[in-house]
Order: sequence, then C-alpha cells, then structure tokens
Amino acid sequence: MPDTDEEGEDEDREPRAILERTNRMPPGVFYDVTKDALCCPDCDSRYDPEIGGMRRAIECCDPPAEIDPDDVPVCACPLPLDEDDIEESDCSYTQLLFLQAVYKAMQQHFERLEYDIVWDSMLRLQEYVDIEDDAIDDLLDEGYLRKDCDHPHRLYTVTADGRDAIGVTYREGVAHGHGKGDLGESSYHVMLVEATKRWLKQSRVEDPDSPVARVVPYFELQEGGVDAAAFMGTDDEAAEQAAEEFASHRFDLVGLNGDGEVVLTLEAERVNHDLWRAAPDDYDKMAACKPDEAIWVVPTQKAGHEILQALNDPADGESRVEKTYAETTPTQQFRIDEPGFTAMYPVSWVQNQLESDE
Ligand SMILES: [Zn+2]
Repeated sequence: MPDTDEEGEDEDREPRAILERTNRMPPGVFYDVTKDALCCPDCDSRYDPEIGGMRRAIECCDPPAEIDPDDVPVCACPLPLDEDDIEESDCSYTQLLFLQAVYKAMQQHFERLEYDIVWDSMLRLQEYVDIEDDAIDDLLDEGYLRKDCDHPHRLYTVTADGRDAIGVTYREGVAHGHGKGDLGESSYHVMLVEATKRWLKQSRVEDPDSPVARVVPYFELQEGGVDAAAFMGTDDEAAEQAAEEFASHRFDLVGLNGDGEVVLTLEAERVNHDLWRAAPDDYDKMAACKPDEAIWVVPTQKAGHEILQALNDPADGESRVEKTYAETTPTQQFRIDEPGFTAMYPVSWVQNQLESDE
C-alpha cells in the first residue's frame, strides 16, 4: 500500500483508480484493491468495480434505508492516455484524473447516482478523486480548467487545453445533431439545459393538456442549417467556425407536438459581454418559429433583468419587448406575451419545481 501521508511528485504519477482514492463510500461497501472489486463486509461477496456492481454491493446484506448520493463516488473514470502520455504530461496523474472526471461529468457520462450535474457540486468530484485545493488552483492558473460558478453549486469546465491534456481531440469532441451539446459549451450551460429539460418533461410532456409530446435539447433548425460535412473535415478552424454557426441555428431546448412541429422554444441565456446583441438574436430566433411558448431561463433574477433591458433597448433594431419591470420584480412574475418571449424563470425557480418530483 502506498503511504498516503507522503504524497511525493513521483507517487502522484502512479495511476490509482477513483475507487481506491475516494473519500466517500456508501455504508456497508468497501473497495478491495488487491481484488479490484467492491465488497460486502458481511458476506464477502465481490462485485464489479462499476456503478452496477456498486448498486448490488449496496443492496447486498443489510441494505440501508436510504443512500446519500453524495456518498456514491463515480466508479469508473479511465484515462484515455498511455504510460508515456502520463509520464510526459505537465499535469500530475491526480490532476489528469480530475480533468477527466470533470469532462465526463459535463458530458453527463456518469449515472445520476454517481454524479448528477443538476444537483451535485463538483466539490464531490474533488472528494472522489482526492485532489488537493492547490492542485486544482494550478489547473485553473494554467488554463486547463475554468471555474463556472458557485451557485447553485460549484461547477468547472475543462478548457481546450485541458481536453488536449486528457487526449480528447477537437474533432472527436464536436458532437453534432439534435440532442448533443458542443465543446464550446460550459458545464454551467449543460446544467441549465438538463435541469430545464427535466422540468419541461414533468410540466409539459406529462401534462395531457399540453400539446408538447416530447422535449429535444440542442435542437437544430432545418433551414439555414450547417453543412454537416464541415464537422468531418480535418481542419480545426473550419470545424470551429461550423460549430459557432451551428449554435446560431440551434435551440437549447424545444418542445415538439405530436406532428413534430415546434410549439415551444427555450433558451438558457447567460449574461456576457455581447448581451445587447445575443439576447435580441435569441429573441428573433425564437420568434421566427412562432412557438406557443418562448421561454427564457436565466442564472439569477438580476441577470433576467439585464436580459429584459437588452430586449427593451437592443444594439440593433427595434425593441423586442416594450414592457419594463422594476428590478425587484421576480422574473417569474413577468406578464409578457411576445412572439419571442412568453416567460422567464431563474434556474433556482426551475430547480424548486423539480425538487418536488426528484
Ligand atoms: Zn453481503
């Protein structure tokens, strides 16, 4: 067994799986390093070192009435790097493993019990990987990782350099087509879209009175679509440009009726430097679809008011929305009925709606 009290530089190069490192484990389950198995201490049964095995180990003898999902670590997080790559990397093995865990989390590759981006802080990933604050700070300083937010919980995004470090090439990573995000996306945006998707399923799809039959994230408009061939090319710059164009023809979420027509559009808007263009552009994109509902989901009430102001007084063209509200008005109380704006909700409001169900 390595002496964890003296974690030197060399030892940090030593590949050790998350199950061996994690500071969290559900009661009644332990990981046996020598057998690479999850084990039940009561009957010595062994289970595969992945989430399915974890579930069986939890259910083995004397299962607890309730499991705190925070106690269930991400079980498998293999690095797509060989020994030489790891040896030559500017990052320690622990840092690479953390980058990989964050990357997989933002791609939603873990089961919800392991890590759920809608509810779980990435501080959990830090505990699972057992990485020190300093080592994460280095990743931030060196530009491998970006901190998105602390509200509603801590989220990080792996940058292009970070993806390079863990061997995810741009072309492999450019997911395209309905239902897929893209690499320029932040974990924060992934969280917004996923939370909103669950809420729309619950509030629209499961409501027999709603025309919405299904909800599709990252929906690409047919007209003015981008040539998919551009994504297949070897030219990174062309792929990047295509990805940008792609985003401008794409909705974060749509609701389709039984005939496959768009009846609801939703944009998860972040406030950034080009808000005075971005917000009216998104408004126009939604309005062009003539949806029954055009919903805006925003990080905070304050951000919602900034977006409303950008729609009141956009950089180009006429006011998209004439109505104004005092900054103390919660955005969910806006009564606006315009082609590209029927409601605006802060993400915390969306989460509260979900809480009753999840
Ligand atoms: Zn057992």
